[in-house]
Amino acid sequence: MTIVRAEVFKGTVYYKSPFTISLGTSYKSDEVVVKIVDDSGLEGFGEASPSKMILGETQDTVVSSLDVILPSLIGLEPEMLEYASYVIENSIHRNSSAKASVDIALHDLVSKKYKLPLFKYLGGYSNKVLTDVTIGIKPIEEAVKEAKELLEQKVRIIKVKVGSENLEEDISRLRAIREAVGNEVKLFVDANQAWSARRAIYAISKMQRYEIELVEQPVKAYEVDGLSFVKRNSPVPIMADESVHSPEDVIEIVKKDAADFINIKLMKSGGIRNARKIATISEAAGIKNIVGCMMEGTISIAAAAHFACSTKNVVFVDLDSDLSLKNTLAKKSVIEYKDSYRVISEGYGLGNIELAHDELKLVKVYEERKTNSAF
Ligand SMILES: [Mg+2]
Repeated sequence: MTIVRAEVFKGTVYYKSPFTISLGTSYKSDEVVVKIVDDSGLEGFGEASPSKMILGETQDTVVSSLDVILPSLIGLEPEMLEYASYVIENSIHRNSSAKASVDIALHDLVSKKYKLPLFKYLGGYSNKVLTDVTIGIKPIEEAVKEAKELLEQKVRIIKVKVGSENLEEDISRLRAIREAVGNEVKLFVDANQAWSARRAIYAISKMQRYEIELVEQPVKAYEVDGLSFVKRNSPVPIMADESVHSPEDVIEIVKKDAADFINIKLMKSGGIRNARKIATISEAAGIKNIVGCMMEGTISIAAAAHFACSTKNVVFVDLDSDLSLKNTLAKKSVIEYKDSYRVISEGYGLGNIELAHDELKLVKVYEERKTNSAF
């Protein structure tokens, strides 16, 4: 079995309502979908969800990166995943969401070949995983209304985005959400790098009384010393998100005792193989993982859920972005959401994806022996 063809599509997913975090407000997400085909006609699908602010990537840079990565995969055996991973990693520096789309497509293809759902191909742990749902930075009344709706939907964990310019308002919103949902629901907060270490300690001391489970990325991504200061002085566990992209970043976190949890995202790690390395190092260091997402569509959310369901060290997930979208780049949702759980079907690979071609534009085709642009 060899890879004979790869196709690259552009597509856009639109949010049902604007989503605000401390880094800005988003209305849509410009995605890239990759299809990889082998000589038996089997197809694997992957998705890149580039984030300008966190990854430094856009839809166009992903397409350009794929122009570097994909030609070197034509003719390779997809089952040689470790080698393929080496080829991908050494094609271009960084550009992790572009790499993730290819890594996901290869995993989909190979697990289909072995007639297994991807999470079982990876060495399954569970066929479902608990997810939180996120409430963005918004007026208190709107946040309370949303929290009550989530409670009715049996959501058990709510992530509250904080780190707006007005800390008092963040605290008031958190208090109002806690009052609206009672004590059954777990809450945690994500500051998306908004605070200095000292401000984080102050903010956490104020928020602690609303029984928050953990605080995510209180300080800038590169301030690992600051993260460590917060972790060692916080009464609430601390989770690193933007500070950890790679396995090497985890080692830095461990050396500096800078986090209790690490949020793994396939778009940051460059795909499933590096995500597994991050989870392995975390587990050995006694750090728990969650698996999170950018504003991703159903294909890469499914991949993240499969990875989470193959990994014991992942205690819950933050995989809800596809639930907030008006449209999908696959014909139907690939991964079920039921009573706060992402539930995986027994379909092979990621779960029998069919692309929604009316939502996608084919921009590049790579084929055996001739590598060219389609248009
Ligand atoms: Mg985060």
